[in-house]
Amino acid sequence: MKKCMIIGCGGVASVAIHKCCQNSDVFEGIMIASRTKSKCDALKEKLQPITKTVIETAQVNADNVDELIELINSYKPDVVLNLALPYQDLTIMDACLATKTHYVDTANYEPLDTAKFEYKWQWAYREKFEQAGITALLGSGFDPGVTGVFSAYAMKHQFDEINYIDILDCNGGDHGYPFATNFNPEINIREVSAKGSYIEDGKWIETEPMEIKRVYNFKGVGEKDMYLLHHEELESLALNIKGIKRIRFFMTFGQSYLTHLKCLENVGMTSIEPIMYEGKEIVPLQFLKAVLPDPASLGPRTVGKTNIGCIFRGKKDGKDKNYYLYNICDHQECYKEVGSQAISYTTGVPAMIGAMMIMTGTWNKAGVYNIEEFDPDPFMEALNKWGLPWEEDFNPVLVD
Ligand code: NDP
Repeated sequence: MKKCMIIGCGGVASVAIHKCCQNSDVFEGIMIASRTKSKCDALKEKLQPITKTVIETAQVNADNVDELIELINSYKPDVVLNLALPYQDLTIMDACLATKTHYVDTANYEPLDTAKFEYKWQWAYREKFEQAGITALLGSGFDPGVTGVFSAYAMKHQFDEINYIDILDCNGGDHGYPFATNFNPEINIREVSAKGSYIEDGKWIETEPMEIKRVYNFKGVGEKDMYLLHHEELESLALNIKGIKRIRFFMTFGQSYLTHLKCLENVGMTSIEPIMYEGKEIVPLQFLKAVLPDPASLGPRTVGKTNIGCIFRGKKDGKDKNYYLYNICDHQECYKEVGSQAISYTTGVPAMIGAMMIMTGTWNKAGVYNIEEFDPDPFMEALNKWGLPWEEDFNPVLVD
């Protein structure tokens, strides 16, 4: 029996689990293991009557390597799909090494106390994974994830060299709250309140948070303000795609979101420095998370679409060429299908596909790899089949 252990049972995991259950030929068994077992049990209760996939559940503290090893040894999955938080990446990778089990995640490791995400910690595992004969597939969400697959696909089929990539992440959804985050608030706010950066001529160029703004007219959504952010896939794509001169990442934000965020920042609510409150140490950002709407509750209220993709500029047969690959996803359609909004959907579907690539042996090489280091074609085909069809534009409007 082919089995996958999914760690975490939040917004993204819930979508990935629905998708595994739609894909029982590959996912014959899954174990949902997370901190709060009742969430895993509730999902099992909902899905087991309508799927052939055999679902098991377990409680696990993914910060504890020994606990993870024991659970992996008892279930013996073919792959562990890490959909907990970035802080757990290394403990889960350690447990995979100890049990010689393949590993897939959607976000790179970030230490709890520094809010700086980069690949160096996970890339340091390369030799160990090679020696153990197992694969770690890093960043199998949408961005990172599909953006890397799009880049590998563009490189393979459309270009001799790619010189410029602009990744555009647009959420045209409206949840009706004055302020809420679409995924884990702590991770989201850490990401958007950090300095921006992009890579030009092999060097990182740093900007103030939200310093660089552009306006873009997104198909399916319309005109939106977007801001340059630091994003983790810039680091790996700049190394893995031939000919890169500049790579940037933009995300759309509405004015109300930014005004709320600025205000929260100004009063210290987004800080990750612990403070004492009534004799107890608390982290302001974690407290803020506790009072904000749970991203999982946004599903029924969110209307509109997302449009995420990459604009490539490069050369083919000696001539300049532009090419845009993107996906449009509708919040309400996602909700009807799996009970989640499009942000979790666009991450959970590629997470399932990444695990499928490893479980079926379609992607099969020992070591630690970013997603663009594999053949993009089977993944691109699976995106069309499993709910994230892509579109291409050979004459896109460029971002200056
Ligand atoms: P959620 O907060 O909704 O879910 C996280 C889950 O992990 C929760 O079920 C939580 O348990 C569980 N968890 C947290 N800590 C532990 C622990 N120590 N041991 C066991 N389980 C734990 O987050 P999301 O679903 O929004 O995000 C999941 C991942 O996806 C994150 O790493 C995020 O960065 C990534 N992501 C990637 C994107 C991409 O495009 N690549 C986009 C969006 C997110 P509990 O239920 O008890 O809280």
